[in-house]
Amino acid sequence: MTTAGGYGTPRVSRLSSLDAAQADLYGGPSVVVPPKHLMASTNSHETAMEMEAAKQHFDEEVSSEEGSPRVAPPVTKKALTTADDFALAFDIDGVLIRGGKAIPEAASALRYINGENPYGIKVPYIFVTNGGGKTEEERCLDLSRQLELEVSPGQFICGHTPMREMAERYHTVLVVGGEGEKCRVVAEGYGFKDVITPGDIIKTRHDTTPFRKLTDEEYKNSRVRDFSKTKIEAIFVFADSRDWAGDQQIILDVLMSKNGHLDTRSDSFDEGPPVFFSHNDVVWSTSHEHVRIGMGALRASLEALYKAVTGKELNTIAFGKPQLGTYQFATRLLRQWRKNTHAINKPPSTVYFVGDTPESDIRGTNEFNETSEADWFSILVKTGVYQEGTIPRYPPKKTCNHILDAVKFAIDREMAKEKKAGSTIVDDVDSELELEAGLLPN
Ligand SMILES: [Mg+2]
Repeated sequence: MTTAGGYGTPRVSRLSSLDAAQADLYGGPSVVVPPKHLMASTNSHETAMEMEAAKQHFDEEVSSEEGSPRVAPPVTKKALTTADDFALAFDIDGVLIRGGKAIPEAASALRYINGENPYGIKVPYIFVTNGGGKTEEERCLDLSRQLELEVSPGQFICGHTPMREMAERYHTVLVVGGEGEKCRVVAEGYGFKDVITPGDIIKTRHDTTPFRKLTDEEYKNSRVRDFSKTKIEAIFVFADSRDWAGDQQIILDVLMSKNGHLDTRSDSFDEGPPVFFSHNDVVWSTSHEHVRIGMGALRASLEALYKAVTGKELNTIAFGKPQLGTYQFATRLLRQWRKNTHAINKPPSTVYFVGDTPESDIRGTNEFNETSEADWFSILVKTGVYQEGTIPRYPPKKTCNHILDAVKFAIDREMAKEKKAGSTIVDDVDSELELEAGLLPN
């Protein structure tokens, strides 16, 4: 069974060789192209791009330095420049938002990186959350409202964003989790042709889940169908289940079926379709003073349940942090965002990732840093899952009280680097002059 730290490590596969190959393909690090629609600019961003491009052009004319943060003299709004050598990536829950409300320092931190800082610079940033259950556009609208700042889908990845890539592989899929019909809508928006929900199965056979009754709204939206003619090719847990007992019963039924036909049962229990989770965070941070269990706990529970019922191991696959594919995706998103919105055409040297969960945010950032070209620098904040006084299982490079401290640290560190680089040149020049003057031994 998988534990909190065990995800990302494929184990003995229960799946058929064909399915195992598919599962393996998506189980480890995978590069996924950011969805095209996420790259599309809104009108406001086109305007922003044009303004940025014009400003960059101006900056290039007045700057004699290439390839380093163009630091303007402090600090009027006219003098704002954009840092092109480093960038920021933020987790959301426990970093910017907690229990549906902005964390107190979030707004000032975002103002700080948008130019209200002693250096007069703006720093490009993206959001990488394991959460989901809504379309990317809807989540960005929520975030914009919560933070009182426009957030574009072009700077946003959520746990299930990479599942879009699976729509070409699987035609008929069971989608689990989230509120009402929202995840069906997300999946259909991703291009899945035939999306079934647990509600469809319960409406068709009400005795599937003896203790769960659909609400009037759920009943109205759910679709009766002939499951003897339906082959479920894959199961996707898009967001947190609202009814663990019912959803686990239905997932188990599909897993134990012959090739995803719900009216059948495999003798060997190894003929069912693969199951994918949009992330594997066992706990997450809400308004409650203690962390709450999440999708990773459902995953562990399902694997334990499967073993108890069938005596066999269940191999499941999770997306999201700390999977390296998520960080590769983030790298691409950041490149697009910096290019489209800030007219920066080179990769950043350093990306600071700010998160609250050692097992996903910090682990993923540290592991990705081992192979990535850019330096990915992990910062742990104390406003979410991580609690002061405990020893994080995956240690960050830096721990900060909250997001404002984190962004101040990142920018100060970069500016200190710049200053050091500058002083090295000065020292070298001084040394050469001293050498020429015969003041130093040759
Ligand atoms: Mg978090």
